[in-house]
Amino acid sequence: QSKVVFMSKFLIVEDSQVIQKILRHIAKQELDREVLFAASMVEAKTLYADHKHELIAGIIDIALPDAPNGELVDFLLEDHFPLIVLTGTDDGERRQSLLKKGAADYVLKESRYSYQYAVQMLHRLEKNSNVKILIVDDSRQIRQFVTYLLKLHRYQVFEAEDGVVALQILEKERDIRMVLTDYHMPNLNGFELVQQIRQRYEKTPIAVIGLSSQGDSHVSVQFIKNGANDFLPKPFEHEEFFCRVTNNIESLERMLSLKAQATKDYLTGLNNRRYFAEEGDTHLRRCQTDEIPICLAMIDIDLFKRINDGFGHLVGDQVLKQFAYYLDDCFGRFITARTGGEEFSILLSGLQPSQARSLLEEFRIMVEELEFEFGDGEYLRLTISIGMSAASGDSLDSLLQRADQHLYAAKDSGRNMLVSDSIMLS
Ligand code: GH3
Ligand code: MG
Ligand code: MG
Repeated sequence: QSKVVFMSKFLIVEDSQVIQKILRHIAKQELDREVLFAASMVEAKTLYADHKHELIAGIIDIALPDAPNGELVDFLLEDHFPLIVLTGTDDGERRQSLLKKGAADYVLKESRYSYQYAVQMLHRLEKNSNVKILIVDDSRQIRQFVTYLLKLHRYQVFEAEDGVVALQILEKERDIRMVLTDYHMPNLNGFELVQQIRQRYEKTPIAVIGLSSQGDSHVSVQFIKNGANDFLPKPFEHEEFFCRVTNNIESLERMLSLKAQATKDYLTGLNNRRYFAEEGDTHLRRCQTDEIPICLAMIDIDLFKRINDGFGHLVGDQVLKQFAYYLDDCFGRFITARTGGEEFSILLSGLQPSQARSLLEEFRIMVEELEFEFGDGEYLRLTISIGMSAASGDSLDSLLQRADQHLYAAKDSGRNMLVSDSIMLS
């Protein structure tokens, strides 16, 4: 079965050689997709026709030698192609009319920063197709207008006519990243909705922007006090709307990326001890409530110090990375982490202790037979010891403590073995 896969691309149309060169340079730094360049409408239309289904978005100069009055921009907008207009003149009326026609943004050719902004905007438009936003308003007109605007920026949009429906949608679509909500609505008002969202999704990053009627600064302030990140007075202009939405999405992304950094182990890319303690605890409780069996395994590489002493610390690092790769390959569907230097932990949920034991035994034997590469085609072997405890109403700490005791028993009894709670041996 063959499947057609389009490699997505961007389009940049600019007739000035100098500016095109700057844009090429920035695009190369900022984008990891191919960019097609054109210097005239004729050239651009040919590229557009040939690559229509691969093109995500474009930066289009409004005045071209063969299209002096924005004819190319108009042509592309009529075809609903997401684009950022580049222009040499700051014409307020024209800007309004272009934004009304569906341009995603309007950038003045002022400085290097404007080109940087335009290119980053392209990247933003690409990412937005994976970002889900919910608009909650009892006015159908407002919902439609907001949906229209969000779609210009390629967001995935969900609509709710009141807070109750909004909560139902949030329950179903767990990766909604932003909620835009009105204040006056039947059933649940905007403040109540924000409170509910913050209560129910305490740990989920969701940006909330309150929509308030102009002049009602009380509503704006109350939105923030009730847990919203920002507010937007109605009626709003295209640009103001997009600035707020983009800003909030970007700070959310920065927060998520910091969070990811804080929970990952730098060397192996596995989760770190902190992640394991937090997520593990939550997961353990959930399993206990739902009566799902859960075991904890602690894996420690045997005599790892000898590898460092014999081959050097860098080889030790290389071996740890490879080991992490195999661990993730075998246990990636569970919560795993590098919880110490050469110590790794796994929460095996949904398996009976005997099943967990077999899986870990299989892994121990596989590791024993693996060849870990280092330097130029040289390799070494290693073994692991495993301590496993099975949960029955324990806290994560007590599970960890028991697994640790079993791990030491395994080391004491000669290494390269699995030891678990004695009740399970019978
Ligand atoms: P045992 O079988 O009793 O576990 O012996 P061991 O040598 O594995 O245990 P020990 O705890 O004495 O030594 C662990 C070694 O792992 C010591 C430390 O230098 C090394 N180690 C810890 N983290 C790293 C790391 O990130 N990179 C490298 N290369 N070595 C590390
Ligand atoms: Mg060790
Ligand atoms: Mg150790």
